[in-house]
Amino acid sequence: MEEPTSIDWHARAQSLTPDGRLFIDGVRAHASDGAVVSSINPATAQAFAAVAAGTTHDTERAVAAARASFEAGTWSGLAAADRGLIMQRWADLVELRAEEFALLETLDMGKPIGQSMTVDVPGSVATIRWYAELADKLGDEVPSTPPGSTAVVSRVPLGVVAAITPWNYPMEIACWKIAPALAVGNSVVLKPASESSLTALLLAELAVEAGVPAGVLNVVTGSGRVVGEALARHRGVDALTFTGSTAVSKRLLVASGESNMKRLSLEAGGKSANLVFADVETVELAAEKAAFGAFYNQGEVCSANSRIYVQRPVLDAFISAFELAAGSYAPGDPLDWSTGGGALVNESHTDDIERAVDAGRSAGDILFGGERIERGASRAFYAPTAVAGLDAKHPLVVDELFGPVATIIAFDDEDDAVHQANDSTYGLAASVWTSNFARAHRVADRLVAGTVSVNTVDALGLTTPFGGFRESGFGRDLSRHAIDNYVGLKTTWFQHG
Ligand code: NAP
Repeated sequence: MEEPTSIDWHARAQSLTPDGRLFIDGVRAHASDGAVVSSINPATAQAFAAVAAGTTHDTERAVAAARASFEAGTWSGLAAADRGLIMQRWADLVELRAEEFALLETLDMGKPIGQSMTVDVPGSVATIRWYAELADKLGDEVPSTPPGSTAVVSRVPLGVVAAITPWNYPMEIACWKIAPALAVGNSVVLKPASESSLTALLLAELAVEAGVPAGVLNVVTGSGRVVGEALARHRGVDALTFTGSTAVSKRLLVASGESNMKRLSLEAGGKSANLVFADVETVELAAEKAAFGAFYNQGEVCSANSRIYVQRPVLDAFISAFELAAGSYAPGDPLDWSTGGGALVNESHTDDIERAVDAGRSAGDILFGGERIERGASRAFYAPTAVAGLDAKHPLVVDELFGPVATIIAFDDEDDAVHQANDSTYGLAASVWTSNFARAHRVADRLVAGTVSVNTVDALGLTTPFGGFRESGFGRDLSRHAIDNYVGLKTTWFQHG
């Protein structure tokens, strides 16, 4: 997409007056105790909106509204095709306000406006449309049963679905969850990340404008400790879909077990490996994509390819090309269309990145970056960084940083590459670069990852499931398989002979 030249993003940002109130039972509402938190634009360190700090009482109200709408059948009882039509209208309304959504996303969490406009917003609209189209195409099963009987296996909505989402792709990940959950007839309570709640609120408002009945999609903003915990422990929530850290995922497992055994799908952390073999067709392309895999979205990507392994003969060539490619993600003004790297989500997250890199300085070699970049009053910018020479067990190699930091380690042969790649508690994604077709298959088969990208990085699409193994969680977003998070299989057996 070309830059829409008629838009002055700074002026638009100044004139924006985001509504940060909760969205419960089809209407906006203040938090029950009136509390708000400021949304800070990390690129300027300035507050630009006040967002309601929801309470347990607000959470109760939202779950009750969702339950009432589900039982009333205003949505769950509609023909699936009609739900799909309403969702298509919803996607149209979101698309009409694309620029506002993009601005909110950029101001809330610092990503460049060009990326919000070309990736996040269209990706969200496409997700709603995809599940709208799928709504009436799922069908039931009639399995073989003994003579004199017929069984129907149907997919039934679970009831009230809670969705808890992170701040790195606030709008898209919210849509990955609410679109399939709604398409099959559930009612939803969404709790977005505190850092980036505004697009979720606007999404819900437009859903009702499109015809989704009141109470079917509710958004309770507020902290994870309050609203998130209340949802996780609520006996009236039938399923919880989560994207966020592994640490919080583990708490949700406990909360589910200690409450009503609600269905969980957990998209958790990652530390994905990118393997570049010496027989790669072009080292430059591998390096260019590796920079995308490590630094796009400021490295705040769960499936970021932050562990790069390169076969020794091409190591030097790769490093030179990688440094050159990293320049495309140099931090700049997120409201400038040409900016490749924005601000990190906030100052304290940037502190964490800085501390982690500083702790690795004496153990390895900083190839480039390794510095915080001050821009005006903001301390939330960090240069794309590569570190080499680290031991395999060094925290920079092992821990998810969720920032623009990649480690580069050499490998000798296929076994060594696979061993190093799989030496992780995570299993979200991996990439392999080789021109040898047989090797591509062999290595892909051996990698423990929910998605293996061959001769590209971080491949992802609406039609393919996304999620991980090991401590990256379970359950899948996207594709037809996401539906499994939001339906139960129900057998109805007719005995007629
Ligand atoms: P996070 O701290 O786990 O927060 C995620 C969400 O959980 C936020 O809405 C948060 O609310 C809420 N939360 C926090 N504590 C909670 C609790 N005790 N009970 C219930 N909810 C709670 O993760 P993050 O820092 O926002 O996002 C970064 C993480 O997300 C990384 O680990 C990344 O890998 C992961 N991620 C995974 C995927 C994937 O698909 N696998 C995709 C994107 C991101 P507050 O905002 O109020 O704290």
